Amino acid sequence: MKLASRAEKLKPSATLLITAKAKALRAEGIDVIGFGAGEPDFDTPENIKDIAVSAINDGFTKYTAVGGIDELKEAIIASLSEDYGLDYDKSEIIVSCGAKHTLYNLTQVIIEEGDEVIIPAPYWVSYPAQVSLAGGKPVIIETTEESGFKIEPDELKEKINQKTKVLILNYPSNPTGATYSEDDLNIIAEIAIDSGLIIISDEIYHKILYDGITHTPIATLGDDVKNSTILVNGVSKTYSMTGWRIGYSAGDKAVTSAMSKLQGQSTSNPVSISQMAAVEALMGSQDDVSKMVREFEERKNYITKRLNEVPDVRCFSPQGAFYVFPNISRFFGKGYDGKEIENSVDFTEFLLEEAKVAVIPGIEFGSDDHVRISYAVSMEDIKKGIDRIEEAVEKLE
Ligand SMILES: *Cc1c(COP(=O)(O)O)cnc(C)c1O
Repeated sequence: MKLASRAEKLKPSATLLITAKAKALRAEGIDVIGFGAGEPDFDTPENIKDIAVSAINDGFTKYTAVGGIDELKEAIIASLSEDYGLDYDKSEIIVSCGAKHTLYNLTQVIIEEGDEVIIPAPYWVSYPAQVSLAGGKPVIIETTEESGFKIEPDELKEKINQKTKVLILNYPSNPTGATYSEDDLNIIAEIAIDSGLIIISDEIYHKILYDGITHTPIATLGDDVKNSTILVNGVSKTYSMTGWRIGYSAGDKAVTSAMSKLQGQSTSNPVSISQMAAVEALMGSQDDVSKMVREFEERKNYITKRLNEVPDVRCFSPQGAFYVFPNISRFFGKGYDGKEIENSVDFTEFLLEEAKVAVIPGIEFGSDDHVRISYAVSMEDIKKGIDRIEEAVEKLE
């Protein structure tokens, strides 16, 4: 059958290839350590699950308002106000089927054919894909560990032209774990506002921060910035609720209303039961969040230290999220078994074959010098996995 050109824009992912290979190895009975996970390994907290069970038993199992129930919108407003002093009206909030869906709706309603969208790399894989699907042109700004994986103001200015409509920010970042300070954001905001850009601010890892670092949403930096920003968040990462599919945005009323119309003609409301659970996540005890973050921080400290001790690996120390993004480019040109490693996909295949460790090649995130390792796995597996990586790279020559 002849596909629409829209469908042809969708690229197959290198990650799927690696995941399939890892699966095949596991089927052979080989114990593969999986560092690919993009979700917390903890169970959803008990209080949240209990509310969901009650919602089912109480028959809260029908369609709801398209953009989410009032209780959840109120909980989102309350949490943004309590955490950050941000003030939103219900008409500025929409709940969708995960933050990925929020971003999809958002890109569909604000990006037109030919609009340029600035995306700092390394980026979350779905940004360029969603921008392209909306007919926009992703304009990538490369960043490296030298600048802490942050965009340089001058480079941002250079990329902006008449066609630039949107700047996408993600802090703390997947895949680098880097985040922006208030000072960094002030500089970026000023440039974006001067050029009349819309800022999409993906803050899904806002609570997963280390070393006493605090999170500042860019929307807190003044009314102008707030009016130009759509803040995107969700419960997936903070509350270990990836499967529940609840994401949301806060921002411009007209944009929110357009997203709601699109959602009304596509998915309708997010799952009723999950919405009730999300109210509890936001309003109930936050003790489990602190516990999870403390555990992540221990793993982060361990994995960063260990990786930096591996010869020829350089690993930026993340400030948030649950990934490390080590630079493995010093292995390029080296080989094993007659095969030469030339890029992040080759290195990923090498690790899978020789170390029985699965990671994600950096090229997926727009940087071929790196691989992404998720530490949303047990400390025991982290130790075993890093031991194996250390041993395997010794074979490279
Ligand atoms: C996981 C993730 C999302 C989407 O999460 P949902 O499960 O769809 O809410 C969005 N942005 C980034 C950077 C992520 O890592």
